[in-house]
Amino acid sequence: MRVLIVEDEPRMAAVIARTLTKDGAAADLAADGDRAIELATIVDYDAIVLDVMLPGRSGFDVCRLLRERGVWAPVLMLTALDAVHDRVAGLDSGADDYLVKPFALAELQARLRALARRGRPERPAIIEIGDLRLDPARRAVQRGAAEIELSAKEFALLETMMRRRGEVLSRLELIESAWDFAYENRSNVIDVYVRRLRAKIDEPFGTATIETIRGAGYRIRDTP
Ligand code: CA
Repeated sequence: MRVLIVEDEPRMAAVIARTLTKDGAAADLAADGDRAIELATIVDYDAIVLDVMLPGRSGFDVCRLLRERGVWAPVLMLTALDAVHDRVAGLDSGADDYLVKPFALAELQARLRALARRGRPERPAIIEIGDLRLDPARRAVQRGAAEIELSAKEFALLETMMRRRGEVLSRLELIESAWDFAYENRSNVIDVYVRRLRAKIDEPFGTATIETIRGAGYRIRDTP
């Protein structure tokens, strides 16, 4: 496993690197976002540990830029902030999981192993349901001729649902498709994201693509 550690504090970076190399991983270090982007576009990392608080670009920006450049290595974000809006900002920027500082090194190892095991999602061809069109490679969504802007997590959720059209997906299944973290109230996150998705892909067009299945979860209609 080859991991990129993006952290400006040398001591923290060294501790993480030591932990991972002891675990048999190879670890590269980047002290700022520009260096991180440079390395991650050259090297095919199995995972990226990304601190939010960096000089210059924040970890959120770095993550967003990586995704925009087609770098799909799983990102584990390190944050000192445990506010809900920071978690959401991290996930919106395209992170796969996050850890709040201070964290136990054993937990960091476990999360990274889980992310690496999950691997990179396959990027399939364009998925279409009626006039709703999702292009994973371009990370683009269209309804008819209208381009729809989605955050990374909104996109991931919609992609999961569209790939499994017609199936009822529980909140837990949906969360597991796009998130790895285990914090309380996690099923609420899906409701929040579904609400946002509907406001973008359905409400402006008078469609009802995402159905709520009471007591079970959500389903994308097979035929619009
Ligand atoms: Ca830092």
